[in-house]
Amino acid sequence: MDLQALLDDLAAEAAPFAAQGKVADYIPALAAVDPARFGIALATVDGQLFGSGDWRAPFSIQSVSKAFSLALVLAGDGETLWKRVGREPSGNPFNSLVQLEYEKGIPRNPFINAGALILIDRLLSQTGDSLGTLRAFLRAESGNPAVDLDPEVAASEAAHGHRNAALAHFMASCGNLENPVERVLDHYVRQCALTMSCADLAKAGLFLANHGLRADGSRLLTRSEAKRINAIMLTCGTYDAAGDFAYRVGLPGKSGVGGGILAVLPERGVLCAWSPALDLHGNSVAGVEALDRFTTRTGWSVF
Ligand code: GLU
Repeated sequence: MDLQALLDDLAAEAAPFAAQGKVADYIPALAAVDPARFGIALATVDGQLFGSGDWRAPFSIQSVSKAFSLALVLAGDGETLWKRVGREPSGNPFNSLVQLEYEKGIPRNPFINAGALILIDRLLSQTGDSLGTLRAFLRAESGNPAVDLDPEVAASEAAHGHRNAALAHFMASCGNLENPVERVLDHYVRQCALTMSCADLAKAGLFLANHGLRADGSRLLTRSEAKRINAIMLTCGTYDAAGDFAYRVGLPGKSGVGGGILAVLPERGVLCAWSPALDLHGNSVAGVEALDRFTTRTGWSVF
């Protein structure tokens, strides 16, 4: 199969879909991004890299970061993590306060914002520096030592982060936060403000297609832990549209409001699509469409 030609076709077909979505504007710095941009990259487990469109352009990875922080936390905590956070789809918006109150401060899964705050809390307790640990990991796995955060995006989110602060304070009031709220929130907004390209993210995610083995051959996760992260990505990784994403794309995926989506092709590789215009659930319209077309044309899905 000519994978380069396929990605070029997907990039050429993206424009009408990008025009259907809307760029996230609740974090003002994200609203400035051109909605017409589109990139897609594929990194394979045998070391090949393909890409088309804006696949080398850095963008705000936002919640795509949560797949990586879950991997790092699970590697350290193992099954005890699940005392602090659940692993069921939420069926609610990613920043919902109501569900957290009903469920007594235990977030439904690690990918909604409350759950991601728990991951940061655990990584802070494990390492003393959640952001630094994650950034070093992403640099190593992507092979790009320049991976870093955009301070303007971090400041913009920090200034508008009342809802995440409410989630963190509520969990603290339930005894489900080990570190000070302000410290957890600071690491959270800086983590979400990391900027990476489709190429960087596809390479960084390869351990998920490779049963937990890192780029240098060392083991981050057991085979079974890598399976579990892919399962949580499939069921919870694309907001409350995870069912539709599974129906259309048929791969574990994690999206972010910056317009990025990481999708894992087990034992084959990792795809990353980016296009900033989002649907009502927060997933990139052109990104989901491109991934749908990719798995439809290749037949490469987990189903
Ligand atoms: N930093 C964003 C927030 O907390 C991340 C949202 C996302 O990408 O899902 O609202």
